[in-house]
Amino acid sequence: MPTTKVALFGGGPACLMAAYQLSERHEVHIFEKGKRLGRKFLVAGNGGFNLTNEVEGTALLKAYSDDSKLHNALNQFSTGNTRQWLSEIGIETFIGSSGRVFPKKDVKPTDVLKKIVDTLEKKGVQIHLNHAFISFDTAFKPRVLFNETETTIEADHYIFGLGGGSWPKTGSNSAWLEPFNEIGVKTIPFRASNCGVNVEWGSDFKEKYAGTPLKNIAIHAYGQILKGEAVLTEYGLEGNAIYPLVPTIRKVLTEQNTAEITIDFKPNSSLEMLQAKITGAIKPKNYAFTFKITKAVQEIAKRALTKEQYLNPHTFANYLKNVPMTISSLRPVAEAISTVGGINMDDVDVQFRLIKHPHISIVGEMLDWDAPTGGFLLQGCFSTGYLVGECLNKQYN
Ligand SMILES: Cc1cc2nc3c(=O)[nH]c(=O)nc-3n(C[C@H](O)[C@H](O)[C@H](O)COP(=O)(O)OP(=O)(O)OC[C@H]3O[C@@H](n4cnc5c(N)ncnc54)[C@H](O)[C@@H]3O)c2cc1C
Repeated sequence: MPTTKVALFGGGPACLMAAYQLSERHEVHIFEKGKRLGRKFLVAGNGGFNLTNEVEGTALLKAYSDDSKLHNALNQFSTGNTRQWLSEIGIETFIGSSGRVFPKKDVKPTDVLKKIVDTLEKKGVQIHLNHAFISFDTAFKPRVLFNETETTIEADHYIFGLGGGSWPKTGSNSAWLEPFNEIGVKTIPFRASNCGVNVEWGSDFKEKYAGTPLKNIAIHAYGQILKGEAVLTEYGLEGNAIYPLVPTIRKVLTEQNTAEITIDFKPNSSLEMLQAKITGAIKPKNYAFTFKITKAVQEIAKRALTKEQYLNPHTFANYLKNVPMTISSLRPVAEAISTVGGINMDDVDVQFRLIKHPHISIVGEMLDWDAPTGGFLLQGCFSTGYLVGECLNKQYN
């Protein structure tokens, strides 16, 4: 029989994992403010649904912000453990060519979420929808709003996984920062991560080329080089070749007004290889064919180079390898795939309990950590959820 009551706030992947770990031994309740659980999890499934990644060990830790507590959680519950857990609850996965882990073909995000929720319900986890955490009472117990009535939730331990600041329509937003500040917990304002960047294109360029994919490019930024794809957008650039550079760009933008990147549009050809393609007859109208580039890239070059430079194929080839771009800002938090900020890592102990209020633990994106896309975000949520669940199983043995 369960002896301890644990109340979790937030129905995202981090709390669902913590609830799963606790459900064998304890009375577990999840309070979710929305009508459904896991809405951001489902949004994550709209594109490529990367449930985790294949990398393990040091390579895995390197993907995350440098935080020993987070790294400990990742070591305790790594990517292989996530796949094993998913398999145990009936979701088979496969590793894609990029190392990203996906659910097996024909398994939809809703199927994955349903399997997780069904498993929890079978294990006796009680789910309370439309219950919004709003504040703490004077004994630092959470108060929820349900049917216009406020109630204090009585439990032995509380876990919060209210999410980061991105995509507020999925339920997670910055409203929870204030109640935590009020109980003396330091929070850091949300900033965008894994987001697009603003680049000043001319309006005529935007109209013509927004939506154009930039395939097989490499972006250089402050000593980092990232190969991948991006898309030219109304506002600038978006895509997996830029997301992992966002932490560096964000840091630069806190120190100066703009950040500079360069794009190599031919990362698989050296400058010598490009130069070798140039014959006496090559004219700008043949650039697209000779260098295998899109009209959009030609247009970018036309705008940046003098007429003389543009007409000279050698200068043009050189430019293709080093196209400078000035980033004026990051896209807003609401549009980002993830955020940094939230609960200050120094305010939690190694088990993610609030140092000032050890009857409260924090999991998932609510904590201030960063990671790129590719399954690392969900893995961070699963790892912190697992660690908190397991530590509480030991604490309330
Ligand atoms: C477009 C997009 C694509 C993504 N793709 C991927 C991907 O492929 N792979 C990957 O690893 N990650 C991906 N992510 C990121 C991933 O979805 C998140 O990192 C993850 O969902 C965070 O989990 P969480 O449990 O911390 O918070 P959330 O999933 O945000 O869950 C928090 C929950 O708390 C609830 N809540 C908020 N406030 C309250 C309150 N006051 N009271 C009660 N409940 C409350 C919310 O309604 C929500 O259900 C993607 C994100 C987006 C936006």
